[in-house]
Amino acid sequence: MTVRTRFAPSPTGYLHIGGVRTALFSWLYARKLGGQFILRIEDTDLERSTEASVQAILQGMEWLGLGYDEGPFYQTQHFDRYKAIIQILLDKGLAYHCYCAKEELEKMREEQLARKEKPRYNGYWRDSQATPPDGVQPVVRFKNPQHGEVVFKDLIKGAIAVQNSELDDLIIARADGTPTYNLTVVVDDMDMGITHVIRGDDHVNNTPRQINILKALGATLPQYAHVPMILGADGQRLSKRHGAVSVLQYKEEGYLPHALLNYLMRLGWSHGDQEIFSLAEMIELFEVTDVNRAASTFNPEKLQWLNQHYIKTTASEQLAPILGEQLAAQGIEVCEPPALSAVAQAQAERAKTMKEMAENSHFFYADFDEYDAKAAQKNLKADVLDALRQLTERLAALPETNWQAAQIHDNIIAVAEALDFKLGKLAQPLRVAVTGSAASPPIDITVELIGKSRTVQRLEKALAYIAAL
Ligand code: GLU
Repeated sequence: MTVRTRFAPSPTGYLHIGGVRTALFSWLYARKLGGQFILRIEDTDLERSTEASVQAILQGMEWLGLGYDEGPFYQTQHFDRYKAIIQILLDKGLAYHCYCAKEELEKMREEQLARKEKPRYNGYWRDSQATPPDGVQPVVRFKNPQHGEVVFKDLIKGAIAVQNSELDDLIIARADGTPTYNLTVVVDDMDMGITHVIRGDDHVNNTPRQINILKALGATLPQYAHVPMILGADGQRLSKRHGAVSVLQYKEEGYLPHALLNYLMRLGWSHGDQEIFSLAEMIELFEVTDVNRAASTFNPEKLQWLNQHYIKTTASEQLAPILGEQLAAQGIEVCEPPALSAVAQAQAERAKTMKEMAENSHFFYADFDEYDAKAAQKNLKADVLDALRQLTERLAALPETNWQAAQIHDNIIAVAEALDFKLGKLAQPLRVAVTGSAASPPIDITVELIGKSRTVQRLEKALAYIAAL
């Protein structure tokens, strides 16, 4: 049997990281077993589905590298098929028209609640021979079996059994003829030959109903794995209140896709105390049956820690385009040199996110008008004027071909020694002069990357600034 999994998001908002976690698990499962992963956009709710949300799903999947073997399929393109299936169920007597008006259903519900019963449809039209009322467009209900139980072995939650007497006859087509969620999911899972349905456990209550419909259609049942949800630190379901939940927002915030995947996989799943997983390891080691049954708590600090780890360990050539995008988003026009990859390499040790790396790298590509006030007050003072002047002269005399960290370093040392300055006493004013602030990568590398003409220009500006104090 070839494993076929799917991710079936509804395009009614941003792509939530909880959803992405189930997508990742489905993807890993298919990749691990040499199967296929399918993307299906469940866009039948025409009122709430938006094109922007579809695009967010597609972009999010692409950004994360969760490639699909088939799709994207759109449920709105399958309406004829759903209609045909509903008709088959009607023809076989496995579904029926129900003419109950909204008010009747409301009344039924109130009476049941008053009797402390679970509200459910009473099956009035199931076997009724009554003449349908005039002018009422019926809904179609599925004839759920009335006896026995539905039992399935959830790959995460274990055995689940539900009495059929607990399930009422579900609406599968609304009065306007449009199919409902449980019907469309079932038809597509059947038609697409899905072998493993891995999805959020907010759907676990739908599963027995879906199994009954699948059985009525004579379909092979898939296996189910319901992934527990992600909670915020306060124990509530993860939402905007807890910070970013949209995948693309993490991209904007400067997270690396692999850091997010590593984090989401490790959330509620473990392999000893290993924290760092390459993609190959993820595929090799992941077992859906090992996913924790309990909900997991989202920990933004840990995600940030992983992001920092991957920034430090990812090749700077790979970081370069991301840094470029972040700089552009911050309004900085990147004109190399310095090469973005060289800047990324110099900054990799000091950034928790690519956004932060970009924020700290403006001075490589753009001049600044002001110094950080504290840094200037502390470092750009009369007592370094002479040293900075000597350094400026030396650097101005350094041929472009020798404009390298080692030579720059030698010149800084030479001036410091000649004036009996500790290295920091010269390096820090130099840093403020050329970067505008008191923090940057090692000063010789920083100066090399800023380039000769910019460095000399900025030093002259600093000399003038000090002279005018
Ligand atoms: N479209 C459903 C959702 O976004 C998922 C359905 C499923 O995975 O079966 O919640």
